[in-house]
Amino acid sequence: MRRKRQELPKEVCEEILRQGTSGVLALLGENDYPYAVPLSYVYCDGHLYFHSALRGHKVDAIRQCDKASFCVIDQDCVKPKEFTTYFRSVIAFGRISIVEDDTHKLQTLRLLAERYNPNDEEGFRHEVQKDFNHVLMMDFMIEKLSGKEAIELTRNRQTNE
Ligand SMILES: Cc1cc2nc3c(=O)[nH]c(=O)nc-3n(C[C@H](O)[C@H](O)[C@H](O)COP(=O)(O)OP(=O)(O)OC[C@H]3O[C@@H](n4cnc5c(N)ncnc54)[C@H](O)[C@@H]3O)c2cc1C
Repeated sequence: MRRKRQELPKEVCEEILRQGTSGVLALLGENDYPYAVPLSYVYCDGHLYFHSALRGHKVDAIRQCDKASFCVIDQDCVKPKEFTTYFRSVIAFGRISIVEDDTHKLQTLRLLAERYNPNDEEGFRHEVQKDFNHVLMMDFMIEKLSGKEAIELTRNRQTNE
């Protein structure tokens, strides 16, 4: 990163991934056009998990190339008078695969369900019974994680420290 001062520590990047509810997954799509698709996700121990329909553009892209990146915007506070935005975001690079093992699929589905609808075991079981065979889980193993914020946020943080 060119501007080292704006770089976020790993723990902050992970916290952003834990707090976020959606991001944009970038894949190498048809005819090598990048395909950037917004998705909900859950972060756990260096992995991001996504659910999806069985078929579609992103599934085709993943089967063609497992290299991917995922961007989550934590903050985008536009400051019109300063002609800027006070931003904070993270980008993960890694390898993405379709979860083939049913036990792992159930575990990752549970992680996702607990992230968005905690303490609803009955609802989760109902959804699994209904849709398990119609849903696909994707496992994104993070190889590199970077985070960056606007210099103004860095300055504010340092003043408060
Ligand atoms: C905040 C948010 C969270 C989401 N969470 C999930 C999730 O957890 N799981 C999930 O499966 N989907 C989620 N979606 C929907 C997701 O963005 C895709 O539309 C969906 O996954 C289908 O993707 P696909 O590649 O199979 O699309 P296909 O049906 O194969 O798409 C065909 C074409 O439609 C266009 N297209 C597809 N999606 C979009 C889009 N979102 N915006 C504009 N054009 C589009 C593209 O041109 C694509 O080539 C979410 C969307 C948003 C905005």
